[in-house]
Amino acid sequence: MKKILSIFILLHLAVFASAQLKPRPDAFPSVPENLDSKAVTMATTIDEMASWDRYPTYPVYLEMMQRWATEFPTLCHVDTIGTSVQGRLILSIYIQTQTDDDLYRPEFFYSSTIHGDEVTGYVMMLRLIDTLLHGYGSNPQYTSLINRTRISINPLANPDGTYRQNNNTVLGAVRYNAHNIDLNRNYPDPFLPAKSAVEPENDSMIAYFNAHHFRLSANLHGGAEVMNYPWDCFTSQQNSHPAADWWKEVCTRFVDTSRHYNANHFVDTYSSGYTAGGDWYVIHGGRQDYVNYYHNCLELTMEISSQKTLSSNRLPSYWEFLQHSLVNYIEEIHSLPDNLSISQHPSQSSSFSVYPNPAIDCITVGPTSQNTPLELRDINGRTLQVVKPTNKQPTILDISHLPAGIYLLHCGGATAKVVKVQ
Ligand SMILES: [Zn+2]
Repeated sequence: MKKILSIFILLHLAVFASAQLKPRPDAFPSVPENLDSKAVTMATTIDEMASWDRYPTYPVYLEMMQRWATEFPTLCHVDTIGTSVQGRLILSIYIQTQTDDDLYRPEFFYSSTIHGDEVTGYVMMLRLIDTLLHGYGSNPQYTSLINRTRISINPLANPDGTYRQNNNTVLGAVRYNAHNIDLNRNYPDPFLPAKSAVEPENDSMIAYFNAHHFRLSANLHGGAEVMNYPWDCFTSQQNSHPAADWWKEVCTRFVDTSRHYNANHFVDTYSSGYTAGGDWYVIHGGRQDYVNYYHNCLELTMEISSQKTLSSNRLPSYWEFLQHSLVNYIEEIHSLPDNLSISQHPSQSSSFSVYPNPAIDCITVGPTSQNTPLELRDINGRTLQVVKPTNKQPTILDISHLPAGIYLLHCGGATAKVVKVQ
């Protein structure tokens, strides 16, 4: 009876858990949301964007970006990050005052719609650019923020996905780029070998990150309303992000501010409105982990609307509830946590140890099982050495021929970081 009762309780818990936890939309192919053409209204001229209740056609989007640069030449310019597979432009508005002589002014980056059909963030970013630029000199918060921060805003990271049907509509938008690749699974993964070549959109985004020193960023998505902080490729139990406590505070501030304007948002996934990415669903090849790990930039994934392609007449109400949080998140760059080593991976795994580490010639690894090979990979995931342990313990690996750097030693699902010096 006791056993039957426990099974009953377990079944109930399972049902309860599945009712509580909505599957991560990133994990699945997008489901068409049956948007009819009435729900999506396009702006075919720049003037039709004035009320912000339409999506811009691709030419209108280009015109908006160019107009801001022309209208505010001392405040911003357009950066061309790169081009998509089909030759569309991946652009960013870079905001900094022309008298900017403070070399230590931190750089912030917003980017949206890496998934082409998640277009709420696209319009939010356009409106944020417009609001910041027009508010400079009159709104004390925006003025102060721009005077202290370099801000780059990329409204559309995957234009081929968004304008899949044609340049004049976002109806028919898809998640993928024109090679049908999910760009948010296509970044170099810190802990797994690459599955495919980096796509042109991501390649140019990586170059943009290399050319800058962004310290805080966010990548905007849709399909849920939840703030998703790193890591995506680990659960927090496996490897908690070194800034996890800070992220929770930042997410709470973002969600609370939004709920102040509309209490019904950020409730569809977690009651707190935020989660560590891997606790929701583990993914690999996402931009968030890439940016955190390889660029020491704190990046967060913002899932900002339950619907991926929001009816255009709902865009203004989303702006009302998100605008203050979006501006305040930029402010967070001035309160980053101290002494943070983002490129942190346990140098000792839970199941085996490596010593000495850092090492010059050889590393000693143990305990190891005879049936489980040790695999040494470089930081890009390429396998360099595979060693099958013998019954002679511990196992010694010669790494004297390797250039100095960071390597990852994998063994039976556990990983340890190995630092080679000299
Ligand atoms: Zn997404």
